[in-house]
Amino acid sequence: MPRLHLRCPASDDRNVVSRLQVSLLLLFVFVSPLLARSERRIYVVSSATRIHLPRDFKWQQPERRYAEAEGARLDLYSRGFKVGDAVYAEIRLPEKARASYLRLDGVTLPLTKTSFGYRTLFAIPSNFMAQHMELQWTVPELQITKYLALRPTSVTWPVTKNYRRVHGGPGRKLTPDEERRRQERQAEFERKIAAERRIKAAAFSSRSADRIGLSISHPRDMHYITSSIFVRRMQISYAIEKKKRKELGRRTIIHNGVDLRGKVGAPIFAMLDGRVVLAQRMHYEGNYTVLDHGNGVFTGYMHQSKIHVRAGQDVRAGDFIGEVGSTGFSTGPHLHATLTIRGVVADPLSLLVLPIRN
Ligand SMILES: [Zn+2]
Repeated sequence: MPRLHLRCPASDDRNVVSRLQVSLLLLFVFVSPLLARSERRIYVVSSATRIHLPRDFKWQQPERRYAEAEGARLDLYSRGFKVGDAVYAEIRLPEKARASYLRLDGVTLPLTKTSFGYRTLFAIPSNFMAQHMELQWTVPELQITKYLALRPTSVTWPVTKNYRRVHGGPGRKLTPDEERRRQERQAEFERKIAAERRIKAAAFSSRSADRIGLSISHPRDMHYITSSIFVRRMQISYAIEKKKRKELGRRTIIHNGVDLRGKVGAPIFAMLDGRVVLAQRMHYEGNYTVLDHGNGVFTGYMHQSKIHVRAGQDVRAGDFIGEVGSTGFSTGPHLHATLTIRGVVADPLSLLVLPIRN
């Protein structure tokens, strides 16, 4: 890791000192963004996966579950097998067997061929508690069929309340001309939102081959969660009538990503190897980048001040892909990072413990 060595000026010449100070300042201005990156450290897990983490992130061994029979083996790794956790599965087969299948609640999971057998990623969905979630593992040539019940750890999500005052009443009646313009603006806005929805749907419908390599990266160079995934945000709108609060309505939004602290311009890193399938300004997401990691695994990065990648570009885990900002529907600079595995929303930070191999 690069380290800056500074020697004190052994001179009493004030001009030299001030010139040195100026050059140190310039050096600091240009080098500090690089230093911010080099502050990150690297962990090595399972002798194969390199996980890039900020210093303040406490890494823990993943939990493991397994099944074995006739020399074949299924290993599952997860941060905690909780709602919203990604799960990494590896299948190892003895020489006489070639094929194996994994079904999650009857849905066949896409498997990637590796040097040791097969691997895949899936996520435990947020409605897990209501479902009976079962993994079926088969190796036809060995007549193996095993069922693993993924018993969840019970999780209660915090609820935050946001009060929003609605001002004014019926107000002045608009003239027919003003009303027509208002309707035009509304229609224009709805067209824009519908177009953005189509662009997002197209990006997330990509089903490319597994691109994940042997590196995983935290999306930031510091670890500070300002809002966890699945927090229920209850939005209560009210008006003041006769000096009293009158509730007008409430709706609950489930936070579908994790908010990470960062100043405007702070670096954002790609979490896994992948291809950029979306990199543009959106109304709600602000400057938004979506990476396709193959097999239906996507990570997303919202509210950026700057995007450093283009759609179609390949990126590596740990690449500097953008800068933290507060664009779109955001109340202050932060990174809203997301993980979606074949349509299931999961916690992107749950990737950081997985001993992915190929
Ligand atoms: Zn968020």
